[in-house]
Amino acid sequence: MTGVTDRKKLLAAMANGQSLEWDVIVIGGGITGAGVLREASRRGYRALLLEQQDFSWGTSSRSSKMVHGGLRYLAAGDLKLTKESVRERQRLLKEAPGLVDRIAFYFTFRKGLFPGRWAMAVILAIYDFLAGIRDHSYCSNSQLVERFPGLEQTNLKGASRYTDAMVDDSRLVMRVLQESIDDGAKALNYTKVAKLLIENDKVSGVVIDALHNATDDATNNAGTIELRAPVVVNATGAWADRLRNQVNSEQRIRPLRGSHIIFPSVLCPVTEVMTFLHQDDRRGVYIYPWEGTTVLGTTDLDHSDDLDCEASISNPEVDYLLAGFNRQFPNNPLSRADILSTWAGVRPVIGAERGKNPSKERRDHAVWSDNGLITVSGGKLTTFRLIALDALNAAAPSLPNPAPFTDDRVFVAPAISTTELLPNNPQWAQRLLGRYGSRAQAIIAQSGAGELAWLGETQFCLAECRWAIQHEAVEHLDDLLLRRTRLGLCLPNGGKPVYPALQVMFASERGWDNSCWQAEVARYEAIWNRYYSLPKNPQ
Ligand SMILES: Cc1cc2nc3c(=O)[nH]c(=O)nc-3n(C[C@H](O)[C@H](O)[C@H](O)COP(=O)(O)OP(=O)(O)OC[C@H]3O[C@@H](n4cnc5c(N)ncnc54)[C@H](O)[C@@H]3O)c2cc1C
Repeated sequence: MTGVTDRKKLLAAMANGQSLEWDVIVIGGGITGAGVLREASRRGYRALLLEQQDFSWGTSSRSSKMVHGGLRYLAAGDLKLTKESVRERQRLLKEAPGLVDRIAFYFTFRKGLFPGRWAMAVILAIYDFLAGIRDHSYCSNSQLVERFPGLEQTNLKGASRYTDAMVDDSRLVMRVLQESIDDGAKALNYTKVAKLLIENDKVSGVVIDALHNATDDATNNAGTIELRAPVVVNATGAWADRLRNQVNSEQRIRPLRGSHIIFPSVLCPVTEVMTFLHQDDRRGVYIYPWEGTTVLGTTDLDHSDDLDCEASISNPEVDYLLAGFNRQFPNNPLSRADILSTWAGVRPVIGAERGKNPSKERRDHAVWSDNGLITVSGGKLTTFRLIALDALNAAAPSLPNPAPFTDDRVFVAPAISTTELLPNNPQWAQRLLGRYGSRAQAIIAQSGAGELAWLGETQFCLAECRWAIQHEAVEHLDDLLLRRTRLGLCLPNGGKPVYPALQVMFASERGWDNSCWQAEVARYEAIWNRYYSLPKNPQ
């Protein structure tokens, strides 16, 4: 069973003048680009996706990982966005159990803070109505404290319980890409679009920088390559203005950073999500379980750092999140020393109204068509399918008639059941089927001795690492530890405990010798220390 596109082979073919013509070229390997690729490929278009770094390297590996309707949008009166989001949530829960899973949220009430119990009951009744479910209730202080031990009870007025869903965002991108590739699409990571190809004032393709980040021989001497397509979709998220500005000088993206901190779950063991209003600005902040850890997030502020560098948490954000947590759990306070790792992402918010409260900016997506370039940005993970359909609708006049299709599911149902896959652990089987579809069977079948054991407190195993190295376009150690798996974020010391096993695996699967391994470790640790750890020099 094959995996994602063979990067070396396709780039070498391109360098030799083959595979230069496509129906649709998608720029950006986040969830938006993956969604467009999926919908294009099912319509029979020859579709190619190009990502400058690794798949999901941008915002799509750095979200809060919720598949949700967004109560905030409903409270702001945006019924359309909420309805679309909760309907997509329901669809994803049905199509990809194990990847997208329902989880309970507890929105806590404190005396004097809005919304209170009754306002929230109305909001949740509408929320559930839009989703076609009924799944909310009131939770008393004592029930709440059972679930979130140590929660400060002064002024506590219980909570509203409702349900949304969680997803591993990077794995969502990989699964959507895999489905597209199974339908005939191609996807290349570490392939940057250097510029748009413009002929007679119309975008007719892209120029790729084949040497950008290349670590292999396939692209040596290839330099730049021109690829042509009647439709070029710019799905570069927070970077969207850059390429679009080649055909339209408008600046529409307001990059807003959101950061999270991760700490060992033993310090605040939770199995569900708690939301509290932060004392400084009354923004909702979440505490939630993730891969054996507990996560606290997020922040929301203008991001003026260089977009070519990975986003990272700042000292004031660390202080803000810790202060919020410590107000809720004053008897189990957290300090910087407790933090396992951090991550930050940049929301590609359409607005560009500097000065407006970031949390009041709309989170809808937008599609622009300029001289043959379709730019799509903004929105959420949750609504990626609808965003993709909007982008393809805008592109339709330039495309041939689509091939007919009857099944509009994003994910093909696995050909095997959970009990057939792992009779003794159907729950984990569900997780593997959700993440890998039918390929889960091959992952289990080819695993070496001991490779199915969970690593640390996570539910990742070495068999998945082997699979990713073989079939999921892993170019660097950081691709494996930060995106294909989350071992680098959820294990102590950035995942050092798994280095020995991975060194052996990369040597046998990729032929990495010791110096190559050491260079990859150095690269990974530099990235981890700079962007996924604590910022240096706290004030
Ligand atoms: C902190 C935070 C929390 C969030 N939480 C949630 C949540 O819980 N639920 C939810 O539904 N949504 C959430 N979101 C929103 C969601 O994560 C984003 O809307 C979504 O990931 C954007 O995906 P994208 O594909 O448009 O952008 P990205 O994922 O950023 O992908 C764009 C890609 O384009 C690539 N690129 C840029 N320029 C080029 C080029 N020249 N050539 C090739 N490639 C290029 C970049 O490298 C990048 O990988 C959150 C966002 C943030 C920041």
